[in-house]
Amino acid sequence: MTVTLAAVVVAISIVSRPSLAEWLGDSRAMMGTEISVHLWHESAEDGLAVVEDAFDEITRIEELMSTYIESSEISQINRAAAEAPVAADDELIQLILRSLDISMLTRGAFDITYDSVGQYYDFRERQRPDAETIEEELKRIDYRLVEVDRLAGTVRFLAPGVRINLGGIAKGYAVERAVSLLRSRGIRHAIVTAGGDSRLLGDRLGQPFMVGIRDPRKDDEVALTIPLEDEAISTSGDYERYFEEDGQRYHHIIEPATGLPASGVHSATIVGPDAVLTDALSTSVFVLGVDQGLTLISTLPDYEGIVIDADGRLFYSDGLRPPDATE
Ligand code: ADP
Ligand code: MG
Repeated sequence: MTVTLAAVVVAISIVSRPSLAEWLGDSRAMMGTEISVHLWHESAEDGLAVVEDAFDEITRIEELMSTYIESSEISQINRAAAEAPVAADDELIQLILRSLDISMLTRGAFDITYDSVGQYYDFRERQRPDAETIEEELKRIDYRLVEVDRLAGTVRFLAPGVRINLGGIAKGYAVERAVSLLRSRGIRHAIVTAGGDSRLLGDRLGQPFMVGIRDPRKDDEVALTIPLEDEAISTSGDYERYFEEDGQRYHHIIEPATGLPASGVHSATIVGPDAVLTDALSTSVFVLGVDQGLTLISTLPDYEGIVIDADGRLFYSDGLRPPDATE
């Protein structure tokens, strides 16, 4: 897990005081990671029912957007959209459109068609595509090959073999939706985490939540902790899914220009109001690297970033830079 949940949970338990109201929640394996929902509620019974509804919402999103589920709409698109336009749910169309916008914003560093090459990586089985496969598939990595007809509600690929995968944005979407649901149920303090993506609702009863950013090379150690309320925070790291071969680390964030895991950075963290964007931007800034990545973040008024480079050095965007930093 990227944003250290342990740090958050410790923070939560400190504020728990003897009263009927309490922090409630659960963690479950979903979306290929650990998802947790914690909230403050006057009644344990009612609170746990709301927690359950949040998990149901995340399940619904996973069933729509996972390429690992054969019957999902995205799997249907990947099977058929090169031959003819495929109709899709408006929600999926909207997230694909946002992904394409973010590709433009990041000049292709974020690209959901990375999966044309990405599908050949299997980190558990220690498999990666060979040079010929990368060369062949690389021409299919181009977000401009995805055509969305908003009015018809369809998606079409402009070349055979194109595939899309929302792994770099769907968890942010899921936590954002889960928090919207909690808010609509009257919840005022909550934290929803999906792997490296967290969305905070309110504060932890008068004080900010303290969210830890993991040390990318020391399991269970925190590189720094930042106070946050009512915001989203996403971290992309090269330690989340990877294997090593001949001293080289092959991990899950793919540079669209080469089809290889992006190098130069160990983790990229983005803080901002919308978890959909913090999720996609953390992946993007990881690919772009320290300079280009933080330059991009400086153009987005409500977003800040922290990048840990391959030497373990920390770099901050302007709004987060500590007063004593010289960089
Ligand atoms: P996690 O929270 O799982 O660590 P990240 O936000 O770091 O996820 O995104 C990594 C995931 O994004 C990968 O597992 C893959 O599904 C997808 N991905 C990898 N490279 C790219 C890319 N260049 N553009 C968009 N999505 C990507
Ligand atoms: Mg991401």
